[in-house]
Amino acid sequence: MTVPNHVEIIEVGMRDGLQMETDFVDTAIKIALIDGLTDAGIQHIEATSFVSPRAVPQLADAAQVLAGAKRPPGSRFAVLAPNIKGVEGAIAAHADEIVVFLSASESHNQKNLNRSIERSMHDVAEIAAHVQETPILKKGAIACAFGCPFEGNINPETLLKIATHFRSLGFQALTLGDTTGMATPPLVSQTVSMLREHLPDVRLTLHFHNTRGIGLVNVVAGLNAGVDSFESSLGGLGGCPFAPGASGNICTEDLVYLMHEMGIQTGIDLEKLIQVSLRMESVLGRTLAGQVMKAGPRLRLHSYQNAACATG
Ligand code: ZN
Repeated sequence: MTVPNHVEIIEVGMRDGLQMETDFVDTAIKIALIDGLTDAGIQHIEATSFVSPRAVPQLADAAQVLAGAKRPPGSRFAVLAPNIKGVEGAIAAHADEIVVFLSASESHNQKNLNRSIERSMHDVAEIAAHVQETPILKKGAIACAFGCPFEGNINPETLLKIATHFRSLGFQALTLGDTTGMATPPLVSQTVSMLREHLPDVRLTLHFHNTRGIGLVNVVAGLNAGVDSFESSLGGLGGCPFAPGASGNICTEDLVYLMHEMGIQTGIDLEKLIQVSLRMESVLGRTLAGQVMKAGPRLRLHSYQNAACATG
């Protein structure tokens, strides 16, 4: 198995995760969590979303979060920006990167963005033209890339058409979102191979949800197909309000743990990262899905004397 020896891990919990929470997380707490992430060595963070505060009140403080968080050298702060207004907010707040998304499924695109794929592709072109003269990086994100809860399988030609559209507009980075956890290892291999064949100069990122428990297995399939960039969220937060049955993203600590045990570098300090997840857990007041945050890395040993033993 030839896998990359370094992978980029993009933390999306502050956006994909917090947008699903019922309670508003205080701006100061969001900033402290982000500072904890960069301190743990996470360089790429999808920090928030410049969407309508009416649609996503949880992220209404996008500009304050970006203004407050530390930006260590080498860090890259991405934000979701669905339209020109969002893009302008992102530029004003000095985001490093905008993420512009649409769905590979017509019905999910309608639910999520209230318009057809065709119309969304037109919007993407407008956004690309709008940022052309600015230094902001742009990334395309394709939701439901591995399946749609309303339509089932995605036609590979639709996916290729959308990806090619992004590329023709100067997007050199693309995220394939598995919004509702429908990816499987063979599907990941086929999809990545197809896109790498047609668009070899596009940097692919994979964004899996652990809806069916095989998120990390799909990561390994992605590694085997040559992908070296993955999105995940702290403690496995996340979901999608417009997709039935969607559950959390793959968990960042679990992903980092797996990479390190496979001899793949991430530049991330796992113990520090676990502390940030525990902090997030106490902020939200419920148990998160992450597993390594509970068990610790495999060589975090326990006292033999203090462990209970079976006597009966
Ligand atoms: Zn997601």
